[in-house]
Amino acid sequence: MTSPDCNDWHWQLAHCITSHEQLSHLPGYISPTAEQLACARQYPMLATPFYLSLAKSAAQDDPIIRQCLPQPAECEDSAEKDPLGEREASPVPRLVHRYHDRALFVTCGSCAVHCRHCMRKRVWETPLPPPTDAELVACTDYLRRHPEVREVLISGGDPLTLEDDNIARVLDAFASVPTIEMLRIGSRTLVALPQRYTDELCRILGNCGKTVWLASHFNHPQEISPEAESAVLRLMRNGVAVVNQTVLLKGINDDADVLAKLFTGLLRIRIKPYYLFHGDPVHGTICFRTGIDAGVKIMGQLRKRISGMALPAFAIDLPQGGGKVRIEPDSFAGLAPDNTRMYYDLEGCAVLYPETTIANPHIS
Ligand code: SF4
Repeated sequence: MTSPDCNDWHWQLAHCITSHEQLSHLPGYISPTAEQLACARQYPMLATPFYLSLAKSAAQDDPIIRQCLPQPAECEDSAEKDPLGEREASPVPRLVHRYHDRALFVTCGSCAVHCRHCMRKRVWETPLPPPTDAELVACTDYLRRHPEVREVLISGGDPLTLEDDNIARVLDAFASVPTIEMLRIGSRTLVALPQRYTDELCRILGNCGKTVWLASHFNHPQEISPEAESAVLRLMRNGVAVVNQTVLLKGINDDADVLAKLFTGLLRIRIKPYYLFHGDPVHGTICFRTGIDAGVKIMGQLRKRISGMALPAFAIDLPQGGGKVRIEPDSFAGLAPDNTRMYYDLEGCAVLYPETTIANPHIS
């Protein structure tokens, strides 16, 4: 990136790469096939110049290229577009209320990168403008009638591709509901558009009157940049903490070495790895799924190598609103002859765990 404006987030969004040919200056470039072009018509390509500058070559095995270049396999599966049933769980437009104490708000349809594995690829087909005031009022009225909802996940598209005034409008609306305690913003901009974290945006996020968490979406260590690290510091100075959700992706990060580097790298820049998701069965993304056993095996390898702080929970999102389920290797190894419990250690050997306790007369 050589433009003097490349540190400006508006410039980045205005100069997004939208076709194969724009990669022709990179080493390893190969002209697209007819199948790739057909897939790009169904699920268009989009990436900021910054995101593509993280690629080492235009070869299909580069993790950056693989996450944004259309592949024919995306158009060949027969999976559903909305297997999680988000549309059915929407009591008012843009709000999804599936879990007891949390709701999801769909802010917009725009993103800084079209991730080929995206579980909401369907929204690329019908661009969604920022919410109107009337839509926000309908959502906040619903939340006032449902005081059990403590947290709103502000999602998209990518909400942080909106202008500051729209973001402030959304945050202010949800912050005005007394029973909402926390706002969580799901965004891939730390990865693809870290220039977005201006002092003004960080101030808006940190001063909306509720606790704000940012849920970032790093999938590969090549995505961790000095620009992202600086943005995290600006967020933290404004009281916004950051966690990360990674999707396990075939041919991109389904490898313990890659994920160990990613998770420890995230901790180094002060982001807590939170979830490692197995890919949802969404149309256009099946080619990225690894199978659950592959994820369990990788988690077993990671447990031996990285600290508990760096280790996210491996999880699946059950179809039709079944919710997120953590997939843990079974650690209970049974009872010894004297009834002492045994647990598997990191090497898979059963180890005795005596549960010695003493009666405390002061605690009943
Ligand atoms: S940024 Fe998020 S919503 Fe946008 S394409 Fe990527 S995964 Fe999907």
